[in-house]
Amino acid sequence: MNSFFKAIFDLLFPPRCLSCQNLLISGEEQGFCPDCQTRISFLFPPFCQICGSPLPAGVQSSNICHRCTVSAPPFEICRSVGRYDSVLMEAIHALKYQRKIPAGVVLGKILSAHVANLLPFGDYDRIIPVPLHKKRLRKRGFNQSLILARAMARDFSLPLDFQSLKRRVHTDPQIGLGRKQRETNVREAFECVRRDQIANSRILLIDDVYTTGSTVRECSRVLLEGGAKSVAVATVARA
Ligand SMILES: [Zn+2]
Ligand SMILES: [Zn+2]
Repeated sequence: MNSFFKAIFDLLFPPRCLSCQNLLISGEEQGFCPDCQTRISFLFPPFCQICGSPLPAGVQSSNICHRCTVSAPPFEICRSVGRYDSVLMEAIHALKYQRKIPAGVVLGKILSAHVANLLPFGDYDRIIPVPLHKKRLRKRGFNQSLILARAMARDFSLPLDFQSLKRRVHTDPQIGLGRKQRETNVREAFECVRRDQIANSRILLIDDVYTTGSTVRECSRVLLEGGAKSVAVATVARA
């Protein structure tokens, strides 16, 4: 949008903070007011070297968490912006349940800015969002992970691929389920449908929230089985 039309648009639909809904003063392009920005619970090292879960203070970042030691994930590395609470949770809810697409664009930019230092973006060939089943897609109207992935693909000039990985099994929302149940739910839920496209590629997989890791583990497993060379994961929030 050119600046003239943007000014008119902002006058008609003044931008509001994605979390507290207060009007944003012009120039606050990040989507959150300064107050809410300070309330984002960013994750700080030390992290598990593989899955990125926060480790107790004082532990070396070269360490690996208990879960990854017991069962190594198929992905190489996973990193997230912050905890799934307050500001990030409100913005993700605004995107998923109130269909506020701009919230997704802002979250995608925050994800780009944050993980740019943690992941070697030059190493990836394509960005793939965790897919929704077509039933859920019809109900919601869009895939929130695709909106995040699109913003990142633009920021890093990487090809966006939302066709190679499909969700073939519809699962009920996983809220309130434990890890074992989630693992059972997502087993065989995904399918790699364009093996020729992903053969030998180094994939960056995007999801909105990392809860137990079951979903991104299963997606990664399917992509590797489909011929991908490696999978790295980035999510906005971590429960
Ligand atoms: Zn705010
Ligand atoms: Zn770990």
